[in-house]
Amino acid sequence: MEINCLFCRIVAGQIPATVVRETDTTLAFRDISPQAAVHVLVIPKEHYADVATLTQADPALAGDVLGTAAVVAETEGLLADGFRLIFNTGQFGGQEVFHAHAHVLGGEPLGPMRSR
Ligand code: AMP
Ligand code: ZN
Repeated sequence: MEINCLFCRIVAGQIPATVVRETDTTLAFRDISPQAAVHVLVIPKEHYADVATLTQADPALAGDVLGTAAVVAETEGLLADGFRLIFNTGQFGGQEVFHAHAHVLGGEPLGPMRSR
């Protein structure tokens, strides 16, 4: 655990979150500032700064994050109409919290992938 990491502190139960799914290795909780009707974050419980670092260090754990994201998409009712899975990474990717996380977005049409 990284003492100053917001998501490590959520894993440790030091900061509250609305958890929608937990596995041995992952945690899924609602984004505090939702950008769509459904907006859930999926994280590895172990700290990695971003998805590239995570995947290079522990590909099986990266797979666990994808697996939990898929189950969340199903339990949130997103499979029929579709959803978006985003890993913002680094400065150009707009990453703000440097603990790897997937955004699961859906529940309404999401528009173009990016705006200019
Ligand atoms: P990113 O810009 O990809 O690093 O996304 C970080 C996300 O974390 C943003 O969508 C924030 O709204 C979300 N966030 C920040 N603090 C919390 C919190 N305490 N609980 C849940 N989500 C949070
Ligand atoms: Zn962390």
